[in-house]
Amino acid sequence: MAFDRQQLDQPQIVTPSAALAARLDAELRSAHPRTIIEAAYAEYGDRLALVSSFGAESAVLLHLAAQVSPDIPVLFLDTGMLFGQTLDYRKSLAARLGLTEVRDLRPTFADIAVHDPKSDLWKSDTDACCNIRKVVPLDKALKSFGGWLTGRKRFHGGDRLRLAVVEEADGQLKFNPLANWGKEDLDAYVVEHDLPAHPLVAQGFPSIGCWPCTAPVEEGQDVRAGRWKGQDKTECGIHVARAPSAPNVGGGI
Ligand code: SF4
Repeated sequence: MAFDRQQLDQPQIVTPSAALAARLDAELRSAHPRTIIEAAYAEYGDRLALVSSFGAESAVLLHLAAQVSPDIPVLFLDTGMLFGQTLDYRKSLAARLGLTEVRDLRPTFADIAVHDPKSDLWKSDTDACCNIRKVVPLDKALKSFGGWLTGRKRFHGGDRLRLAVVEEADGQLKFNPLANWGKEDLDAYVVEHDLPAHPLVAQGFPSIGCWPCTAPVEEGQDVRAGRWKGQDKTECGIHVARAPSAPNVGGGI
């Protein structure tokens, strides 16, 4: 097979943020989630955010982070299409954990008016809908931060099977403190700390997003099998690194 010798000889460009991510990932690969959050907080201080959906498993990461600092800004994507139970849970859980900086991120009126005036874009183009309701608002909010915490775990499968504990994306560091934890670890933590469950978990929803794109799952199915059911789509797009030239509705990146 022909190969491009010139390409092989090109030196790899490692940005400072990528080098930092690689170093921290090596150091924290087997660390307890709380240790990972402490390391992220030590690195970024008030430039560290936590992104939470206040979904089925969110209480664990939020509780862990609150032990490190209840002032860590928590970014919550209120897409306008969430279940009422999620909005209630966001309020009650934040109060219960003493979180002082939960910020509700919403799509702009302009983006909704232009791209989704009837609130039915999800029927024809879920990627575009997620873009204006999740990706653009989050990208704008994250501009103020150097690093962020996510709740992703490897046991969710798909692209998450190879999830690093610390990774670099678009010049920022993403910390995944729960990457190594399985369902049993999460359940044990919930019991140990008596954390309240999202009310829809008892109705068969192990992963919860917007109401049009979330379905209950059968016993034994993957945790995220009910998300965008019947479509190839498995992620909303907030965890996809974007090339500088990538098209962007709303001009938010
Ligand atoms: S999950 Fe569905 S309703 Fe929510 S932003 Fe994405 S496509 Fe729209």
